[in-house]
Amino acid sequence: MREQLEALRDEALQLVNQASTQKELNDVRIKYLGKKGPITEVLRGMGKLSAEERPVVGEIANAVRGVIQTELEQRLVDVKQQEMDAKLALEAIDVTLPGRPKQVGQAHLLQQVTDEIEDIFMGLGYTIAEGPEVEQDLFNFEMLNLPKDHPARDMQDSFYITDEILMRTHTSPVQARTMLASKGEPIRILCPGKVYRRDEDDATHSHQFMQVEGLVVGEDISMADLKGTLEAFVKQMFGEAREIRLRPSFFPFTEPSVEVDVSCFKCGGKGCNICKQTGWIEILGAGMVHPHVLEMAEYDSTKMSGFAFGMGIERIAMLKYGVDDIRHFYTNDVRFSEQF
Ligand SMILES: [Zn+2]
Repeated sequence: MREQLEALRDEALQLVNQASTQKELNDVRIKYLGKKGPITEVLRGMGKLSAEERPVVGEIANAVRGVIQTELEQRLVDVKQQEMDAKLALEAIDVTLPGRPKQVGQAHLLQQVTDEIEDIFMGLGYTIAEGPEVEQDLFNFEMLNLPKDHPARDMQDSFYITDEILMRTHTSPVQARTMLASKGEPIRILCPGKVYRRDEDDATHSHQFMQVEGLVVGEDISMADLKGTLEAFVKQMFGEAREIRLRPSFFPFTEPSVEVDVSCFKCGGKGCNICKQTGWIEILGAGMVHPHVLEMAEYDSTKMSGFAFGMGIERIAMLKYGVDDIRHFYTNDVRFSEQF
C-alpha cells in the first residue's frame, strides 16, 4: 500500500509540474485530492488493514496528500505569475512600430470655392449672412418684387410645402430678411447657401445647387461701386489679367440689371471652347437694388441705394477647376473629390 501511495504521489507531482494554467492545476487537485480521488479511496479501504498497519498507512496517506497540496499551491503561484507575464507581453505597446496611416478627408470642392469667395468679400468688408432653406413665399418672392402673378416666377419653379412655404429658389430671401432687420441702416453682406428649383437634372442643371449673393445698401452707392467690386472679385478669383464686361439684362429685384462676363482665362480673349469662341464667359447677374424692393424693406429710396449680385457656386467651380458635369459634385465619388 505504501508503494501504491508513493506511486500516486509521484504521478500527481509530475502532473503538477507539467501544468501551465490554473485550470490544469485545478484538474489535478480534483483528480488526486477530491472526494472520489485515489487517495481518499485508499483511506476508505483502511478498514481491511490490521490495527498495526492502520496508523502507518494513515500517516503515509496524509503525508502524500500534504506534499501534493503544498506543491499545488506553490505551482499555482508560479502559474499565476506566468499568466500575468504572458498577458502583459501580449498587451505591450511597441512604440517603435510605424503608425497606421489615418484617412484624412478634405473640404468638398464646392465648400472650398465657397470659402474662397467668402474670403475675397470679407477682405472687402462684407459679413456673412445666412437664412432658412425652407422659406416663406413673402421673403422668397414678394419682397423681391415678384408678386404672386409675376411671370418671372415661372423661371424659378420650386418645391412647395404649402401655398405659402417653399424650398427657397435663390439666396435672395436672406437679403430681404437682412434688409428688413437692419431698420434702415447700411448693409454689406454675402449670403452663400443651398437653393432648390424644379429643374431637369443634366450636365449643367441640378434641382439643388449652391448660390452666393452679395448686397450693399448705403448712401450714394452707384453702378461704379458695383463694377469696381465685381472687378476686384474677378481678379482675385480668376487672375489679375481678367477684365469684366456688363451687358444689360432683367431681374425683377434690380433696376438697371446686368449680366456680368469675365474675359476668358483660358484663351485670354482669342476664342476657345470654354468661352465658345467669344472671348467672354458669363459668370453672374447683378444690378442696382430696385427702389421698390428698398421701400418694401422700409428704406427711404430717395436717400439710400444699393447693388446686389448673385452667382452659382457650381458654375464658378466648374469654370475655375475645369469640371465638365455638375452631377460630379453630388455623386460622392471620392476619386472626384480627392482631385481638388
Ligand atoms: Zn476662351
